[in-house]
Amino acid sequence: MDRLTPEERSELMSKIRSKDTKPELIVRKHLHALGFRYRLHPKKLPGHPDICLPKYNTVVFVHGCFWHRHEGCKIATTPKSNVEFWETKFRRNVERDLRVREQLQQLGWRVIVIWECELKTRLPSLPDEIRDSS
Ligand SMILES: [Zn+2]
Repeated sequence: MDRLTPEERSELMSKIRSKDTKPELIVRKHLHALGFRYRLHPKKLPGHPDICLPKYNTVVFVHGCFWHRHEGCKIATTPKSNVEFWETKFRRNVERDLRVREQLQQLGWRVIVIWECELKTRLPSLPDEIRDSS
């Protein structure tokens, strides 16, 4: 059984979800190896996108399926205890993602979202996707 309170667990999980989570690193390394140059978590932009490619007017978010609620994805489970707590938390995350995306698009950025579960299949086409946007 859970020994942690919902708040403690949330705190713990948010540490795991730190800036340099693995899927994001994989995307960064991939793009860097191909010669893309980018900035990380620019403070000036809404939502501090994971990767910002000014040359292509493109920002990339690498989303964890659990936290960002990838629709229909089996990683996006809901914990069985403290259901209400989690549902509120998830709803806020989803709402924030939506808001941030709209704000970025209004500023003229193209927004690419990569879900952690599709990382491997998505990576090969990512460079073209980025170049196409210019
Ligand atoms: Zn997923």
